[in-house]
Amino acid sequence: MGDDGRIRVGGLALDRLAARVGSTPFFAYDRRLLTQRVAEVRAALPDDLDLGYAVKANPMPALVQHLSSLVDTLDVASAGEMAVALDTGTAPERITFAGPGKTDDELHRAVASGVLVEVESEGEARRLGAAGHELGLRPRAAIRVNPDFAVKGSGMRMGGGPQQFGVDAEVVPQLMDKMAHLGVALEGFHVFAGSQNLHASILAEAHERTVNLVLELSKHASEPVRYVNLGGGFGIPYFEKDQPLDLSAVGANLERLCSERLRPVLGEARIGVELGRYLVGEAGVYVTRIVDRKVSRGVTYCVVDGGMHHQLAASGNFGQVIRRNYPISAGVARTVEPGGELTEVTIVGSLCTPLDLLGDKVRLPTIDVGDLLVVHQAGAYGLTASPTAFLGHPSPAEVLV
Ligand SMILES: *Cc1c(COP(=O)(O)O)cnc(C)c1O
Repeated sequence: MGDDGRIRVGGLALDRLAARVGSTPFFAYDRRLLTQRVAEVRAALPDDLDLGYAVKANPMPALVQHLSSLVDTLDVASAGEMAVALDTGTAPERITFAGPGKTDDELHRAVASGVLVEVESEGEARRLGAAGHELGLRPRAAIRVNPDFAVKGSGMRMGGGPQQFGVDAEVVPQLMDKMAHLGVALEGFHVFAGSQNLHASILAEAHERTVNLVLELSKHASEPVRYVNLGGGFGIPYFEKDQPLDLSAVGANLERLCSERLRPVLGEARIGVELGRYLVGEAGVYVTRIVDRKVSRGVTYCVVDGGMHHQLAASGNFGQVIRRNYPISAGVARTVEPGGELTEVTIVGSLCTPLDLLGDKVRLPTIDVGDLLVVHQAGAYGLTASPTAFLGHPSPAEVLV
């Protein structure tokens, strides 16, 4: 948002940007905000902690290229993402590959590339060993651990209890013994317990328990542990009552855990966190244009040329239990005087389904057909986390400004 109350992305006023892009809807990501966010995270976290970017949050090649120069590692979750990461020129030593269901083809490509594979099961460890054998290379591996605790307050839980992710903590020592005979280099551990957490105290507790777990598992290692990935899950505010994460509290706790607990025992390890949403989510907007405005039995609807097929999360159908509105604003420069009039409108997309609701009873300055409408917090899990083929509309443009 500019000083004059107009929305800007990368310093460009929205209408100018829309003219530059040439079509709506589109996603725009702000390079300066990305750089700024990484700097804030770096300032808050311990100096010797690696910062990773989880590419699945936003795999746009130009954006990954930009972030690759600012972070220490790129974390990928498919061979497709791995190709994007390698294209940035990032050294394979600084690329890690997690995710359940890696195919033999993906494992071969990962071994040939020299990236670190975070194995999610014994079967996968065996197939990784076989891939290394066939290629005459020693695969680099870490074990993704499904912790014996769950992280409360996460938008999406991905650890604790039964999970399709990782190897249950209690059987990791056995797997480590088996892996010693598979010809893979076991470098360390990865624990990722959940996503979208806004509570520093809960993250601090999760990090503490993760450190305990990693230290315990490290006792079973035959070689020095060289890699510890503490996960991420730092959340961003989406809804009115959400308070931003207290990053300095998270950082101070990690500082203590690293210097007092991990470093004295695992002096040779690269210790890191991997963040997706937190680095990119607030740097992006989804811009649509109003195609129709109609009143139905007292409710004013604005129908836009985009919708849930591009920005599923804003429709409430990506991990929300109770649907709430993402922040939305009118893209036109209409100054609203104090006490000036706002109208209540319901913003819907162009898909023929009631699920395609972007803003339920939002209060906005008067907007009409032809005006731009902006959905904020659209930098993470937007386009590539949406059912783009649904209803057969064209794909939106994406720009990094
Ligand atoms: C999705 C994912 C991330 C990124 O999560 P955010 O909540 O976007 O930070 C990190 N690590 C792994 C293993 C993931 O699957």
